[in-house]
Amino acid sequence: MTEKSRFEIIAHGLREAENICVRNGVRLTRLRRDILESLLASGGPVKAYDLIELMRDKGERLTPATVYRTLDFLLQYGLAHRINSLNAYVPCTANHEEHAMLMFVCSECRRTEELDDPALYDYMRSRLGELGMSLRDSSIEIQGLCRKCTIPHPAGAQK
Ligand SMILES: [Zn+2]
Ligand SMILES: [Zn+2]
Repeated sequence: MTEKSRFEIIAHGLREAENICVRNGVRLTRLRRDILESLLASGGPVKAYDLIELMRDKGERLTPATVYRTLDFLLQYGLAHRINSLNAYVPCTANHEEHAMLMFVCSECRRTEELDDPALYDYMRSRLGELGMSLRDSSIEIQGLCRKCTIPHPAGAQK
């Protein structure tokens, strides 16, 4: 990922967050914005305690309670998602404001990719329903190997 595209991802994510907050009549406070920016900047799942470290680097000393409260806000408005299997958080990258989370988690490199596919989510949920099972919350995590980890490196190739 180049520097520029990361910058664009952050700018886009913050702009979307502003819009969502305005539509919901809530405030994207500086703290909420800073934490979301840290998530967007990291490019991968971030644990709450790592967020405390990242914010400390920015000169902000936060208690775990403050970080969790802020994360709860981001989760509530769909600006971020919690990945239970990693006990970590990622910014939402889907284009739907209200949506269930369908997250692919690479069990090798631990990178995640949000699958912006409501139809696939609905299909899995309804199939589970037919089998007499249900989801516990509105999220599905799929464990597997990402594109990078699936392609075997040729012997002797430069990484
Ligand atoms: Zn999302
Ligand atoms: Zn991977």
